[in-house]
Amino acid sequence: MIVRRYLQVSWLGLSLVAPTVAQSQCPEPCLIAVRALKLDSLPAPVQTYYSAGFQIRATQDQALLREAERFYADSLGLGTGISLALLNAADWKRVNNRPYGLPNLSISDRVAFLSATDDGVITMDLLRLEATLSDTVRAKVVREGISFAEFARSMTDVIGLHELGHTYVASYGINPHASWFNEFLSSYFAFAFLQSTHPRQARLIEAMIEARLERPPPAHTSLKDFEQFYGKAMSPDNINWYQAIFMQQVAEVSRSKGLGFLQTVRDAFPVAESDSVSAGTVLERLERIHPGFRAWADRRGQ
Ligand SMILES: [Zn+2]
Repeated sequence: MIVRRYLQVSWLGLSLVAPTVAQSQCPEPCLIAVRALKLDSLPAPVQTYYSAGFQIRATQDQALLREAERFYADSLGLGTGISLALLNAADWKRVNNRPYGLPNLSISDRVAFLSATDDGVITMDLLRLEATLSDTVRAKVVREGISFAEFARSMTDVIGLHELGHTYVASYGINPHASWFNEFLSSYFAFAFLQSTHPRQARLIEAMIEARLERPPPAHTSLKDFEQFYGKAMSPDNINWYQAIFMQQVAEVSRSKGLGFLQTVRDAFPVAESDSVSAGTVLERLERIHPGFRAWADRRGQ
């Protein structure tokens, strides 16, 4: 029962626009559906299935995910064996009922879905940020020596790491109790790895957060709204905004606590905890671990 409840909580966090919590994103087990596409693939670890024409991108994404798996095997003893499906819109629509480009993970067989092209909903929304970019943020991107489009695309790689992070939340033994905290922790795994191994990418993430927060806030901004609407009805723009404010707090905590934060969280939110834990209790526990969580949440408007 405990495991079942936990999987449902995870699933809510993972399936971004699901009609119901329990409905899978694939018509059959995702790995079987992806294999039935008969695409070329790169072998495990991190077996990567890719649509025709995307071998280079697949090789790059696989390399980053393999590096992250090694990092977490060495540092926290984790090993999850994620697979990646890097798909164009036509292949995506044959196996995944989420909107094209809304990254998602099948928790049962650990298949992460990423869009291979720029017309996925999340990448398109990130590309749109260029129109309203301030000179300050533009200068930060230029300083890293990449174009805005490359910058936006690099965030898709970060999302791949975030999906891997979802498998770690479960396999490390954390019960996040809230969808927002599940998203936060998945990003924490992604950011802490990048901060240690790819500091330039970590800086680019912070520039992306700034770019997002320069824009007017979306319809939903509170953690309460996130719990209510995430996984049911939320625009890509609104999802990106929430992921930006989660990542902003991730960066702030990760800078002072590093991987030690994850160990403390595992003790405070054990997967075996069977009773449902209220939103207020989640924040109370986090406030004790890292003072400032309550103020951060209050700024969103509870
Ligand atoms: Zn997520």
